[in-house]
Amino acid sequence: MRIFDPHIHMTSRTTDDYERMAAAGVRAVVEPAFWLGQPRTSAASFTDYFDSLIGWEPFRAGQFGVRHFATVALNPKEANDPRCRPVLDLLPRYLDKDAVVAVGEIGYDSMTPEEDEAFAAQLALAVAYDLPALVHTPHRDKARGCERTLAVVAESGIDAGRVVVDHLNEVTVKLVRDSGCWLGFSIYPDTKMTPQRMVELLREYGTDRMLVNSAADWGRSDPLLTRATGEAMLQAGFSDDDVDKVLWRNPVEFYGQSGRLDLSDLDVAAAVDPQTGNSILRGGS
Ligand SMILES: [Zn+2]
Repeated sequence: MRIFDPHIHMTSRTTDDYERMAAAGVRAVVEPAFWLGQPRTSAASFTDYFDSLIGWEPFRAGQFGVRHFATVALNPKEANDPRCRPVLDLLPRYLDKDAVVAVGEIGYDSMTPEEDEAFAAQLALAVAYDLPALVHTPHRDKARGCERTLAVVAESGIDAGRVVVDHLNEVTVKLVRDSGCWLGFSIYPDTKMTPQRMVELLREYGTDRMLVNSAADWGRSDPLLTRATGEAMLQAGFSDDDVDKVLWRNPVEFYGQSGRLDLSDLDVAAAVDPQTGNSILRGGS
């Protein structure tokens, strides 16, 4: 099983995790910039964080044979802190880097006017830099948050096919599916989605535009729940090809839209789409 975790915060994880992930088949990850738990007190704090996301962390991942990419943004929660807002002016410097494959995580936390503004401004950056966008949805008041998210995405003019709306569940799946955006699901040990509930959604809605991530971070989470979901799919009668599509080809297709997803020389079979025979990676190998 080859696995691409499209949303995981490796900075918060140990080398034991990298080791277990590599053994479980995780070959590539995307690490979105997010909140550190402890509030940042200045934009300079983001500079060090972003530099680490595109420098130190890919090096650390590489030691375990895992390819590491990042997304950068001012996260929804800190969009409310005037001390952090100046980071919006620093983003363009990072959106030019090869290791950055999307703008994110952006979106809503508490749905404040400040969040509105930062969300719209960063969707405009995604359009300007021709990058996909990773959109976080609020954990409280999910349906309303999701509706408002989709309205802002539509208003921004970004192509829906270049947006993933993340942290979905049974309540929000249909809304996002109908919007044409990609659908992200975070599988957690005891909140949000479980592998079993994910399998039910895949049964009902199919495998197109579906992304499964562990969203593992500094909280209680598990970087191997992508693998557990693949196994639950097989047990439920999905084919190896279905699992490969959800856990590998879908994230490759989504982030491949950045034109920067270089997976060459990676130890994975079939970097070619088995349906079309076309390479979906930059460099064609
Ligand atoms: Zn996250």
